[in-house]
Order: sequence, then structure tokens, then C-alpha cells
Amino acid sequence: MYSVFKKMLLRLFPERCLMRIEFILRYLYSLLYLGSAVRCTICGGRFSGFIALASGDMLCPRCGSLPRQRRLWIILQPFIHQENRLKILHFSPSRILQKKLRRMNPSQYVTTDYDTKADTDKHYDITQIPEPEDSYGLIICFHVLEHIPDDRQAIRELYRITKPEGSIWIQTPFKDGDIYEDKTLTTVAERLHHFGQADHVRIYSAEGLVSRLKEAGFSVQAEQYGFDPVLGLKEETILICCKTKSQADEDQAGL
Ligand SMILES: [Zn+2]
Repeated sequence: MYSVFKKMLLRLFPERCLMRIEFILRYLYSLLYLGSAVRCTICGGRFSGFIALASGDMLCPRCGSLPRQRRLWIILQPFIHQENRLKILHFSPSRILQKKLRRMNPSQYVTTDYDTKADTDKHYDITQIPEPEDSYGLIICFHVLEHIPDDRQAIRELYRITKPEGSIWIQTPFKDGDIYEDKTLTTVAERLHHFGQADHVRIYSAEGLVSRLKEAGFSVQAEQYGFDPVLGLKEETILICCKTKSQADEDQAGL
């Protein structure tokens, strides 16, 4: 029903117009889910259930958040409170998370999306980021790298603009075994069939991506999170990548 309703609205109104009234429309739609069986960690709403999408994701009826966004919000809050002078770069953020994070007032919060139609501050190409080196204390990069043909170049750029001792939080869909990629698969149909989404160019394994991140110089910790039906959270792995100081920096600091 949700996808039918969404398609109908997109046929009737221009996307720009819908974006302006998105939060009102979602609030009205959430009235179909009155109840208290589940709770959204982002908007705080309680509902009879989440909206089950064809992808298997559970959408919040009121704020439209996905499980990975609700998880990110849970782990970000204490981190930002503790490090409130943090300068943050957020790739492809959801609108609701952008709104919440701006209210938390980190020292600088910059959002970016390659899609120029997205409502973000910047539209950076992740393989050529026009920012000086050592710029950001925290970079959030969820569901981005699996879209990038030259992901090693993107990872090098992320490393370059991260401050020493800063971190990048990365999440993508993962599979067991090795990374699955094949540069000869270029059509929409082929990528949909092989990678599960028309604009994906590979499926990572956590081990494979950790290895590519280490090649660029990051130290990486894979954090595992569990399923929670009440908060609508899925089992997932988030890679916390730190740009540790080089030995030369350590030596200089010791002088
Ligand atoms: Zn919500």
C-alpha cells in the first residue's frame, strides 16, 4: 500500500513539491499505524508496526527512516555529545538525519551527495573531494562505496581528508567470502541480477573491504550489531576506520 501511495503522489505532483511537504505527508500516513508495539529511535514515534518494504527494510511511518539510519542515530548521539567540537562530513544523508544532526550543533556539519538533485550542502565526487587534507574529525559514509567503480581511489581520498586520530564510519551490504565484482557487468539488468541493485558495482565482504581500507592506511574495527524488532533494527556490521598518526608524527610529537 505504501509503495502504491508513493507512486501515485509522484505521478500527481513534481518531486520538488513533494519534498517540501514530505514531513506533513508522512505524519498523516503514520496515523494509519496508531499503536505502541514499536518505537522509532529518530522521531521518537510509537506505532503499531513499521512499514515493511519489498526490500525487507522496515520504514518508520512518520519520519521515513530505515533500520541503518535508526542504528546510526543511536550510536552517533553519545559520540557527538562527547566530541561536540567535531567537524563532520556526511555522505548521502537522509533528510531526517540531516535535520536532527544540525540541531545537535557540531562545530561544523557538512552534507554531500553526488546527485545534484539531493538536498545537501555539497555535491562532491568521492574520488576527487575538493577539501584540504586533514579536514574532518568524523566522516559518515553509509551505502556509498558499493556504487563507486574506483573505490580504492575513493578510500584514498577519504583517508586524505580525515584528520589524524579522526574516523570514518562505513556501512554497505555485506556477503560472506570474497568481494564480488566484475567490471564487464555494466548494464542495468546485469548489475541488478548480479549485485542486487541496478546502481551497485560490487558486493563487498566485510573482510574484503577491511583489507582495502587498511591498504589506504586506516586501522579498522568491525562492530557487530544485533536484531531488535521493537526498534526496527537489523543485524549489521559497521566498520569504524581510524586514521592513526604516522610513526613520523609520533616521533615528532615525542621530540
Ligand atoms: Zn521515525
